[in-house]
Amino acid sequence: MKFRTPTGKYIRADRGGDGRYGAPRSKIKNGETYRYTHNGVDLICDPGQEIMAPFDGMMTRIARPYVATEYSGCVFRGDEATIRMFYFTPKEDLIGKKVKRGDVIGIAQDISKLYEGQGVTPHIHLEVEKCDPMLLMETGHA
Ligand SMILES: [Zn+2]
Repeated sequence: MKFRTPTGKYIRADRGGDGRYGAPRSKIKNGETYRYTHNGVDLICDPGQEIMAPFDGMMTRIARPYVATEYSGCVFRGDEATIRMFYFTPKEDLIGKKVKRGDVIGIAQDISKLYEGQGVTPHIHLEVEKCDPMLLMETGHA
């Protein structure tokens, strides 16, 4: 199983950052700089576009990436992986219902507004919470 990009587009790389997994990030909190790495991938979207299920599974719940903002997303679970996707409005009537890869599960939000002036391209953040190791295992061995 491979994931389908939920937006039909791929990774961002812009003035606001690199959307690849493991890309360096930093933030300033109480005057101190914290360095960390990006724990998912950022897939470019057009705000308002339909967001598709990356594989067969279901949205198990709404997730909120930031407190006190409108931004939302979901936890999405399939047989082989559980992921989190942020910066879209999930179709709430689909929570807990099985969907197929490619089915529309929500509408993209505009995360660039939160980072106004920093050159962040609108995107959907997708990170893996857990997965079956066999998804990553090379094949061809006895
Ligand atoms: Zn991200």
